[in-house]
Amino acid sequence: RIAYVNGRYLPLSQAQVHIEDRGYQFADGVYEVVPLYRGRLLDEDPHLDRFDYSLRELQIAPPMSRAALKLVLRELVRRNGLSDALLYFQATRGVAPRDHKFPAKTKTAFVATMRRSRPPSAKQIEEGVSVMTTRDIRWERCDIKSLNLLPNLLAKQQATVAGVFEAWLVDDDDNITEGSSTNAWIVTSDGKLVTHDAGAAILNGITRQRVIKLMEGEGLTFEQRAFSREEAMRAREAFLSSSSSFVLPITRIDGKPVGEGKPGPMTRRLREIYVAAALEAPVV
Ligand code: PLP
Repeated sequence: RIAYVNGRYLPLSQAQVHIEDRGYQFADGVYEVVPLYRGRLLDEDPHLDRFDYSLRELQIAPPMSRAALKLVLRELVRRNGLSDALLYFQATRGVAPRDHKFPAKTKTAFVATMRRSRPPSAKQIEEGVSVMTTRDIRWERCDIKSLNLLPNLLAKQQATVAGVFEAWLVDDDDNITEGSSTNAWIVTSDGKLVTHDAGAAILNGITRQRVIKLMEGEGLTFEQRAFSREEAMRAREAFLSSSSSFVLPITRIDGKPVGEGKPGPMTRRLREIYVAAALEAPVV
């Protein structure tokens, strides 16, 4: 596997960064994950827009121009020779003696790696997955895709120990914000699609945004608003969305079956049209 590290392409085993990189010491940086699906980079520009947004919100200088970044991603794809993969890249405020305040002058550090994707299995797609709920203990800027992921890791680990696929995070008002690394959706008992509104409480997923566009094209009614755990427990359907899982049905929440305990028609349809739209993207 080949990685890109501050200007060089190297075998992953030789790719290294400085121990005083602020990403390492403070998680002072941001990242993106872009799916490569059958040789196609999905929603590359929206991912790069969100990367720019995260950088701007943290006052980190862009590591390079967008055109240069696109070239790096294509070169990584070429050198790794994969067609179904996840591209990971991160930028940090760079290397400086450890001090909380922003250093006066640093060069943004940038690394990118790539690995074969591990999409949900056919069984998970056919039968759906289970989620558990747990408290959302994150900060008030979840709209920034920052490297600070400890609350997400703790939630995902709880889910793993409980033997379920994902943890849904519940805020102080008992509303579901999102999953530990996925956005959360329900189809209400009266047939409306609902997902938490974009704002500081969630990461506005690129897959989420794509699903919203597809729903508009299908003439489906949907609402972006908070929904409670209680409403989720009464939902007809539930699913999650993310760059690595696309649209994945959820058939149990905290052990209780969602609807009839099988993936619902809206979820199935959305997954189908998501994949169809993905295949329309050009091969890189
Ligand atoms: N929410 C969180 C907290 C995430 O970390 C992610 C992705 O990693 C998502 C949602 C889904 O976002 P995307 O569709 O851009 O992958």
